[in-house]
Amino acid sequence: MNTDSIWKEESGKCPVFKPLERDIETEVLIIGGGITGLTIATLLNDAGIHSVLAEASHIGNGTTGMSSCHLTTQIDAQYRKIYKDFGEKITELVARSRAEGIDFIEQLIKSKNINCDFKRVTGYQYADRPEQIADLEAEYRYAGYVDLPVELTDNIDLPFSVTKALKFGNQAVFNAQSFINGLAEHLVNSKCEIFENTRVTDIREDRGIFTVSANGKIIRALKVVMATHIPLFFNVLQTLAFPYMSYVIAATIEGDTPGNLYWDMDEPYHYIRSTEFNGRKYLIVGGADHKVGHVEETSKRFTELESYARKKFNVKSVDFKWSAEFFESADGLPFIGESPFSKKLYVATGFAGDGLVYGPLAALIISDLIQGKTNRYYDAYDSTRITIAASMADFFKENIDNVRSLVADKFGNVSEQSPDHLEPGEGKILNLNGEKVAVAKDANGEVYAVSPVCTHLKCNVHYNNAEQTWDCPCHGSRFSIDGSVVYGPAVDPLEKKEIVVVAEDKK
Ligand SMILES: Cc1cc2nc3c(=O)[nH]c(=O)nc-3n(C[C@H](O)[C@H](O)[C@H](O)COP(=O)(O)OP(=O)(O)OC[C@H]3O[C@@H](n4cnc5c(N)ncnc54)[C@H](O)[C@@H]3O)c2cc1C
Repeated sequence: MNTDSIWKEESGKCPVFKPLERDIETEVLIIGGGITGLTIATLLNDAGIHSVLAEASHIGNGTTGMSSCHLTTQIDAQYRKIYKDFGEKITELVARSRAEGIDFIEQLIKSKNINCDFKRVTGYQYADRPEQIADLEAEYRYAGYVDLPVELTDNIDLPFSVTKALKFGNQAVFNAQSFINGLAEHLVNSKCEIFENTRVTDIREDRGIFTVSANGKIIRALKVVMATHIPLFFNVLQTLAFPYMSYVIAATIEGDTPGNLYWDMDEPYHYIRSTEFNGRKYLIVGGADHKVGHVEETSKRFTELESYARKKFNVKSVDFKWSAEFFESADGLPFIGESPFSKKLYVATGFAGDGLVYGPLAALIISDLIQGKTNRYYDAYDSTRITIAASMADFFKENIDNVRSLVADKFGNVSEQSPDHLEPGEGKILNLNGEKVAVAKDANGEVYAVSPVCTHLKCNVHYNNAEQTWDCPCHGSRFSIDGSVVYGPAVDPLEKKEIVVVAEDKK
């Protein structure tokens, strides 16, 4: 079974960029080579502005390459909630900006001649239980107020019956990895210098100049964009954007795969779409989201998606399964613009499951800010906004979860077992000689021991058995079993620990 996304093969077609091996100066440093970073780099390059893009791993290695590649005007937060909390003007801005965001991606694909299977499709949000109809009708009213092309319908091209659906016109699908590969190709020998395998580990701002450390070298920049999905180091936005894991499977089915986008109204919701890859048609089913580090048996989320797919389609085989992380904002809208504490540091976070549109939109807004231009969508996403009324309930719920994680994990959730009892693929926090150690065994039986204390803000990490990573429930940092950083705001690895393991044959 392949646990990379179905699009990952495309990452091999991206140009390869060298790591940073010298000190360098630039006007703008962009940290992160996902859809947000690459689109900002493209816009700045087109405007003649010199930039450096530093990517910790390789282009698309973050959530962009692990997404499900649909582009919708509909948002995870739902228009009825945004309307209630922010009113008509902001709701209209969100709806219009998302429609224009999809148009912008389409134009970029045409103008740069990028081959990434972009296609316009219809989106259906469907109720499959009568008690969901009231919410669906409310969504219709609010999405209609702000002039999205929506209609209620009983006709939906799925092989199972649904109670009612809301039909969104002019949505799209594409291959996000191929899209950013295409952007990267245009940036070779441009005003943007890209460095891969270049993890930023420190940033200081002094008298208008940023001094940034990466690979033991220094990058000096007048402006910095954190296109890292969640800001690095400590940033107040980490208390307003909460980390979630989301799961996807790609399966081959008997008969035709459905041709549009479909999502239900469950909590968490499921979505269905299809794609063609290497001449084969696949059904894609995703969802089953949960807060990072809050579920023990993460691999069961794949089983859940598979049984959902099997109930609705005649599945022949599940060929790919993958999971990745997103960040949901406290009030349902992303934070895009200046960082709350620095006018020359820019952030883009809280995209929820909608970041393939919000990322390019963030690029448009941030590149305008960098050039001193106004952007008409800034008000909807202003990263310095105080929307406590709208976000209060989620803010308290999510941050109390974090406090619980800190307190509960420091004193509980620890096994007294010896590391010899771990199965391949298993990981546990063990109490070894009075010290808590995060111990995991890989598929070959090799045992790794690291400190369970997250290097970001000192919460305890939890084992994720689907990905075999240590995940932090507080702010979403993720580490591989050898302690190296996989994702999230942390920049330093988990501390390695020496432990004694009794070899199998000596037991
Ligand atoms: C399973 C799943 C499916 C999704 N499907 C969709 C979808 O169909 N449609 C949609 O609109 N949205 C979807 N989303 C959301 C969307 O994929 C993300 O919001 C979007 O990809 C975020 O892009 P990004 O460029 O901001 O972040 P990323 O793609 O995560 O890129 C951030 C980059 O920063 C790099 N980085 C991190 N730290 C450092 C550092 N210290 N130094 C240097 N580089 C660093 C990382 O390596 C990474 O490459 C999905 C999310 C998930 C989890």
